Formats: sequence, C-alpha cells, structure tokens
Amino acid sequence: MSSNLQLCASLLRDCKSFTNLKQIHAFSLKTGLDNDPFVIGQLLLLSAVTISDSIDYAHRLFTFITSPDAFMYNTVIRGLSESESPNQSLLTYIQMRRRSIPPDSFSFAFILKAAANFKSLNAGTQLHCQAITHGFETHLFVQTTLVSMYAECGRVDSARKVFDEMPQPNIVAWNAVVTACFRCNDVMGAELLFNRMPWRNLTSWNIMLAGYTKAGELGSARKMFVQMPQKDSVSWSTMIVGFAQNGCFDDAFSFFRDSWRLGMGPSEVSLTGVLSAFAQAGAFEFGKILHGYIEKTGFNRIISVSNALLDTYAKCGNINMARLVFNQMVEKTIVSWTSMMAGLAMHGHGDEAIELFREMESSGVRPDGITFISILYACSHVGLIEQGCEYFHKMKEVYEIELSIEHYGCMVDLYGRSGLLNEAYKFITNMPIEPNAIIWRTLLGACSIHGNVGLAECVKGRLSELEPDDSGDYVLLSNIYAVAGKWTDAATVRGSMNNQNIKKIPGWSMIEVDKVVYRFVAGEGMNGVTEEAHKKLAEIMSALKVEGYVPEIRTVLHDIEEEEKEDAVSRHSEKLAVAFGLARLCHGSVVRIVKNLRVCRDCHTVMKLISKVYTWEIVLRDRSRFHLFKEGSCSCRDYW
Ligand code: ZN
Ligand code: ZN
Repeated sequence: MSSNLQLCASLLRDCKSFTNLKQIHAFSLKTGLDNDPFVIGQLLLLSAVTISDSIDYAHRLFTFITSPDAFMYNTVIRGLSESESPNQSLLTYIQMRRRSIPPDSFSFAFILKAAANFKSLNAGTQLHCQAITHGFETHLFVQTTLVSMYAECGRVDSARKVFDEMPQPNIVAWNAVVTACFRCNDVMGAELLFNRMPWRNLTSWNIMLAGYTKAGELGSARKMFVQMPQKDSVSWSTMIVGFAQNGCFDDAFSFFRDSWRLGMGPSEVSLTGVLSAFAQAGAFEFGKILHGYIEKTGFNRIISVSNALLDTYAKCGNINMARLVFNQMVEKTIVSWTSMMAGLAMHGHGDEAIELFREMESSGVRPDGITFISILYACSHVGLIEQGCEYFHKMKEVYEIELSIEHYGCMVDLYGRSGLLNEAYKFITNMPIEPNAIIWRTLLGACSIHGNVGLAECVKGRLSELEPDDSGDYVLLSNIYAVAGKWTDAATVRGSMNNQNIKKIPGWSMIEVDKVVYRFVAGEGMNGVTEEAHKKLAEIMSALKVEGYVPEIRTVLHDIEEEEKEDAVSRHSEKLAVAFGLARLCHGSVVRIVKNLRVCRDCHTVMKLISKVYTWEIVLRDRSRFHLFKEGSCSCRDYW
C-alpha cells in the first residue's frame, strides 16, 4: 500500500465532521486516490450514512463515479432512504438495475425503507415482488423491513401476513409487527402480539408506551410503565409528552418530577414536546413552572428548548415573557425570530413585528418562507397594506423565495380585512396557482366583516365546488344574510345545511384554574363545574345589562323568539369560561382562555364590558389571533 493510501485510510478512520470529510476528499483528489475504490467507498459511506446533513454531498460524489459497485449503490440508497427525499433512493435503485448490477439483501432492506418513508404502497409492493424474484424474500432483514413498509403504508393485514410467514422472527421483527398494529390503530392486535412475544427488550416496552399514549389509553400506558423491568430516558419522555398531549398536565408534570428525582433527567425531546402541548392548550401556569426548571438546569442554553419556551409564552398570551426569553437567548435561529414575529403579530403588535424583521435582516439572518407568512400576517392584522405588498414583492425579488399558497392567502387576507374586496377578488383570479378552499374562505370571511352580500354569494359558489361539506362556510353565509336583514335567504342556507346533514362544529373554550384545565362546550349538559359557570354568568349578564349591554343577536336565526336568541348567544363557551374564571380566580390575575373557533361579535362585546365593569384583564386566543381585553377595549381594535 502506498504511503498516501495509508495516510488516507487512517484519516478516513478518524473522520468525524463534514469539514474533515471535505479535506480528505481534497487530499484524495490531489494525490490521485480519487479513483481508488476503497477510498471512494469510504468517502461515500461517511457522507451518506455516518455524518449527518451531508447526503447531498454524497449524492454529488456518487454521480462522478464512473462504475460504482453494489456496495456503493447500497450506501447511497441507504443514505437517501433516510433523507428528506426518499424517492431519490428509488431512482438510484432503478439506475443500479439498468446497469445490470445485481441487488443483494441489503439493497432490498434499504430500498424498502425508502418506500416506507415516502409511504408508497405501489413502489413497496413492486419491490416486494422483485425481492421474491431475486430470492431474498425469506431474508430476515428484508422481511422485517417489509413488515414496517406495509405498516407505514397503512396495510396492517399485509404486514401481519409477512410476519406470520417468518419461520423464526427475531426481536426486531416482533417489535416491527407490534409497531405496525399501533400505526394502523389496532391496539388490541398489538396487545395480543406483545403478550405472545417469546422475549422482549426495552424497545418493545417503549413501543407499547408510545402506542398506548398515542391512542389515548393512558390507564394502560401507566400500567405498562409500572410493570416494565427497567426504564430509560425514552420511556420517561414518552410518558411525559404522551400525558401532556392528552391534556393531563398534572400527570405529565409528576412524571417529569419523578424522572428528575431518579436522575433520568428530561431530554431536549421531552421538554420541547411538553412545551408544545402546553402551548396548544394555553396552559400558562404549567409553562411558567417548567421555565423555572429549564433555567435551573441550563436547558435554556439549548436553542430548540428556548424556542419552544418562547412559542409557549406567545401562544399562552404572555407576549412580554416571550420577549424576555427571546432577548435572553445568546444565539438565535430563524425559528426564534419567526416565532417572536408571529407572537407579536398575533397580539396585534404589527409595528413591533416589522421592527423585528428589520433587526433580523440587519443581523444577517436570512428570512425563509415561514418568516414571510408571519410578517404578512402582522401587516394584515394591523391594516398595513402598503408594507404588506412591499414584503410580498421583496420575498420574490430580493430573497428569491418561492411563493406558496399560504403567502397568497395572506395577501387575500390583507386586502380583504381592509375592505378592498374587489382587489382581493382580482388578486385571486390573477394568481399563478389554482386558489384552494382556504383562499376563497378568507375572502368569504372578509365579505362577512364588510357585509358584501353579492360577492359573498359568488364566493360561496366557488367554495361549494371545492368543499361542499364545510359547515363553517354555510354558517358564515347565513350570518351575512342575517346581518343584512335577508332572513329568508339566511333560513334557506340553514335549511340546505340541514338537508345535506352538515353538522356545525361545536365551539369549545378552555381555561386553566389552579393548574387544572377546564373545557366548556356550548350547549353541554350540566355538571358541578358548568352549573357554577352558568350561575356566575347569569350574575355577570344582569350586571352588564345595568351598564347598558344589549345582546347582539342579529346573526342568530330570526325564526326563534327574541328571548331564545338571547339564550343561544348567552351560552357560548367563551362566556362560560370567563364566568368560571371570575368565580374561581383571585382578582388581579389574568383570565386566559383558548377557543377553537373565531370569537363572535357578542362575546367580544361582553368581554370588553367585563374588563371594564369588573376591572379584569382577559386574554382570549381564538382560531386566528389573540384578544387582550383591558379597561373596556380590545387589542384587536375590533378588527379580527
Ligand atoms: Zn359568542
Ligand atoms: Zn378583539
């Protein structure tokens, strides 16, 4: 062996980073070793499999090899199968077959993994046939990947069939088939197989925990967790995140504390998982406690954790805390900047969001498509049309970011909110991509705000072609008619909704009191909590009427009695939630509510009045933004 080759081999052995790898590659080119099959093979293996984020490099390297062997093909197929474009893996396999290089069992294991990752049953089935033709279908490796592939493609029956034909499945195959059952929501099947397993490893138990929590069977998950002979950090984070995602924050927290006590410290994954569950539910108090832990343990130095924390505060309605986390971050990524901008925009601080965008640009961070969605959203929610248009053009011309349907949606919203309905309509008809239902729905919403009946009818027509079953569109159109006093038309729309059996999505609101999250649903039956809320609400409403409040019932159907109409709006879930908050929280704290739909006019008025008469601060997150009610007015300036 030449001394250069010897040196190159030892460098390859110690190569740990992408920079290292490029240096070695350069060395091989300089010394003429770039044709040595061993050197090339090792370079490929390192860039495609061992070192992360260098698969593109591997792919380019591969295209320069004149006659790659089976090992090289397998390496690239393997790397690509785990990449963001697993279908590239399939193309490489096809090229391998065209060059008549016979595939081996490894080729099939890797390529089937690719089919699983891009969920192509068609490709998967064809590859299964090829594996049979080449005599590899009984290979343990191949069979195990077949089980996973069928599961990923939603075919639990085929996965089971492959598994049942295995003469001696190993533990990996057993685990794959149990996972397959959970993937296809067959919890019972998974249980039966788990009980039949001749032996189990830690992964088997963890699969059961993950499957149960995902299916919402928390009791079974807990039982399994207790029975486990040993637990690792994966088991703990599965329990923490799983319980949090199911809304059981108290339990999630006690698992969290236990893991801490036992030295099974939470991982980055479990922390970000829990934080995102808190953000979804608006569980602000829990977020605050977790923040304490994160600071104490230095986890705030991990960017993804700080990003999740910032997002949680923003989504729980405390923009100041979000800002504090953001300002304290030593290093910021594009995600940090974008979340902060989105948070500011949702809270109606459009000017600050724009200021932040400028700051980001001058700090040298390059905005991406998501950043532009946030900034366009900010412009539209504070009515900054010119700036909005400017950003829209800048995105394409300066940053060369491809415009997606979401960006067009933001522009429609921008025009629509400002009452430029004809511009919005023109914009949609001139879009280079086909407008989807969301785009038309945005315009329908704008028609509703500005009371344009004619355009609303036209837009609803387009929507009926695209998504005829959406209850929200019918409700919106009938409300537009109702507000305009066109009662017959409103009733016709409601009638056709009933005839087609289209159900309204029930509205719900959540509120956190003493670290328990309560959920109120409009028109739900009575229990202790709802009774308490109703009682308090009745008291509040009569106090507000003294202050001159008149219920806004224009949008409620005209063919019911006035009193009944009043009753219908008075039971909206956000009203119950706020009443419950006033009954249970101590005065001076902030009432935080999360609502699944857009808040209605009447509830909005009531919230404003409560904030004035009772001197409470209320933060309400609805489907599209935050409303901060304080001293009788709202941060959205009645514009949502
Ligand atoms: Zn309401
Ligand atoms: Zn508001």
